[in-house]
Amino acid sequence: MPRPSQTLTPASSPTHDWQYHTPVALWRNVLRLTAPNPSLMTGPGTNSYLVGEPASGFIVVDPGPPDAEHVQRLWEACRDTQGRGGHIALIACTHSHADHAPAAPLLQALCPQRPPIVGLPSAPTARSGCHFVPDRALQPGEKLQIAGTESHTLHAVFTPGHAANHVCFVLEEDGLLFSGDHILNGSTTVIDPPDGHMGDYLDSLDRLHQRCEAMGVQHILPAHGGVIDAPLQTIAQLKAHRLKRGAKVAAAMQAQPDGDLDSWLPLAYDDVAPHIWPVARRSLQAHVEHLRGAAGQTRP
Ligand SMILES: [Zn+2]
Repeated sequence: MPRPSQTLTPASSPTHDWQYHTPVALWRNVLRLTAPNPSLMTGPGTNSYLVGEPASGFIVVDPGPPDAEHVQRLWEACRDTQGRGGHIALIACTHSHADHAPAAPLLQALCPQRPPIVGLPSAPTARSGCHFVPDRALQPGEKLQIAGTESHTLHAVFTPGHAANHVCFVLEEDGLLFSGDHILNGSTTVIDPPDGHMGDYLDSLDRLHQRCEAMGVQHILPAHGGVIDAPLQTIAQLKAHRLKRGAKVAAAMQAQPDGDLDSWLPLAYDDVAPHIWPVARRSLQAHVEHLRGAAGQTRP
């Protein structure tokens, strides 16, 4: 079970706002440094998390986009007991997308000890530009452990859905879930077929709920947006939201049996601002494929 709460400041404190230039100490052994790549898709930017302490070195989760200054700041934030940077034991990527993994080899190259890059290799369905091959592929349930004055253990939970090679990590000692893009704060995860898959996404939500319950997870640290409290409630709400959207998509398909994505989009996403529709169209396609798959058609 997790250690008692060690948060430095309440999760709702303004000091928990993202910073592009200075790492934010969320817990005494977890720093967050946000990459300066804000956008519609990335919210305030990609959160890179540093797990560890000077005595243990650090595991860097999602080093982010290939931004040389962000990579340099990550390197400097991982200090050893003498205050020297680059004390990195492992670089872990939640998935292959361009805002998460490309900084990994850049950060590795700055470190003479060449910390291994771990994660899951991108699937053949990944879009061009999202090709990713880790130095070592993780196994489901694998534990990544470093130890200094105490141990820090990341438990890998495979979560395909947003990307076929998506993996989340539970920091066992502290009851924290690094959710990558599977669970976000302030935006909705896009499911972009064929690498994204709605059925897998829903199954992975169930897996995360089960893992969070079993491992006493108390907070979710997403790759975009701030810390999320009440993990179980959040995951249940996300699942309900997706099922509700799936029902709207099914209703739109029934109302217009000869329609296509463009005619179903305004019906199924009538509660979403039109400037979001080009992105929502990808998730709509994922819903349609999922519904057709559930109706007995084969999965592409
Ligand atoms: Zn992302």
